[in-house]
Parts: sequence; structure tokens; C-alpha cells
Amino acid sequence: MSPKRNDRNRRSFGPKKTYAINTGTIKMTQQKKNDAGGIPSINRFSGEYRFLSNFYEAEFEYEGIVYSTSEHAYQERKTNDPETREWIRSAETAMECAIRGRSKRTKNVMRKDWFDVKGEVMRPIVREKFRQNPELARKLIETGDATLIEGNYWHDNYFGVCTCKKCHSSGQALNMLGNILMNIRESMKEFTPEE
Ligand SMILES: [Zn+2]
Repeated sequence: MSPKRNDRNRRSFGPKKTYAINTGTIKMTQQKKNDAGGIPSINRFSGEYRFLSNFYEAEFEYEGIVYSTSEHAYQERKTNDPETREWIRSAETAMECAIRGRSKRTKNVMRKDWFDVKGEVMRPIVREKFRQNPELARKLIETGDATLIEGNYWHDNYFGVCTCKKCHSSGQALNMLGNILMNIRESMKEFTPEE
């Protein structure tokens, strides 16, 4: 039995880390120079890159509903129960919405196939967020060829890469949100409007 560790509140203030994509998973390596052709990665969706986060306020319409954040659109789709959907959607903040989406009430009526479909549920939502907010699309394109990684400390190795010691040592993360954003960026480059 290994001792139970509380990694939830653990934040790393150690040396900066960089990430290299390796056959679908992300391997974390200490930063030497750059291992991605000289282009630094964006490892946190905060500060000037907060617009990449699903918590960023950016109004858009999706399937006939206007959302204030992509988090709202995503969390709501965990269930087909109309009342629970309405309850999740009406959360005032993205944080509150995420809490409702992870609540027992939602889990009781959760789509059975949620874990198989959640990545594909996320993709068109994030695409619409950027398509309907040209200023954000421009900023996304301006990240150039930088690898986008949703670095977190809450053990989300599906949509992002958790940087806690435990997850770090496993060295495997899918970074789905980062990949979705890079795909959208790639498709948008071809259609950049001239302004
Ligand atoms: Zn972790």
C-alpha cells in the first residue's frame, strides 16, 4: 500500500518544463533548449493565453443555445436529462458549471457512453467558440506553430497534462484539448480573413 498523497493542492514551482509529442502521448522532459524545432510550447492556458481555456468568457451559439463559456456547453452535454442540463447551463460562472457537471446529481443521469464520446463532444464546441469570436481566432492563429498544452495540477491527463509528481512520473497524457486547439488553428490558417 502506498501512502495516500494529496496532489490536488500541489503546484510545481520548480524548473520550467517543456513537452514533446510522442506517438499520441505527451512526454515531459526538463527544458534544455527546445525539443520542438526551436518553438517554445505554451504549457498553461493562463495569463495572456487564458483565452485558450474553456473557462474564458466568450459568447457563442451552439445547437441553438447561447453560452458564455465553452465549459458550459461541454458540461451540459454530460446528460440528456432536460432539468439537469438546464441546471448545469444556468451556472453563473464556468467554475460553478464545472462543479455542477461533476456533481452527484449529474453523475446519476450521466450519458452511459460519456467517456467514449467526451473528446468528440468537446471538439465542435471549441471550434464554434473560436469561429464566432474572430478576435480569439486571430489570437489562436498568432500562437503560430507553438505546441499547445493544457497544463494542470488536477490530474486531468485526458484533456490536458497534469504536472503533479505522480502524473509526471507516469509520463503519459493525451492533451486532447491542446490537440483540438492545434487542429482548429491549423484549419483556420487556411481561411484567415484579410483585414
Ligand atoms: Zn496529477
